[in-house]
Amino acid sequence: MPFCPQCNTKYKEAISTCPECQVDLVPQAAQTEIPEYGDWYALESVPNELAGNILQSVLEDDGIPVYLRCHEVPNYGGVKGNASQSEWGDILVPVNLVPRARQCLKTYFDSLKEDASLL
Ligand SMILES: [Zn+2]
Repeated sequence: MPFCPQCNTKYKEAISTCPECQVDLVPQAAQTEIPEYGDWYALESVPNELAGNILQSVLEDDGIPVYLRCHEVPNYGGVKGNASQSEWGDILVPVNLVPRARQCLKTYFDSLKEDASLL
């Protein structure tokens, strides 16, 4: 069953593009390009590599292992992702650490908001 690499929604075989994200669907078998750490969960989408690296360091500072999954890597049988997609990739964390990672990012984003309100 094909799925969207961006929103992870699964679709029927007849569908080749995600109507939500305008991204080419990939076969489910391609989903296993992830290091072994049990199950990984796509916590956040990031718009570019810089944002991904920032969030990765925020989480890793809190002791949470992070895997950055880049949509641009053409590892789906040579089919490249749609260049018009707005997101660069996903931040993946181990499923058992999702609540902690969410809290960690919330604290981080809250601190950004506080910084902005000072301006
Ligand atoms: Zn989608």
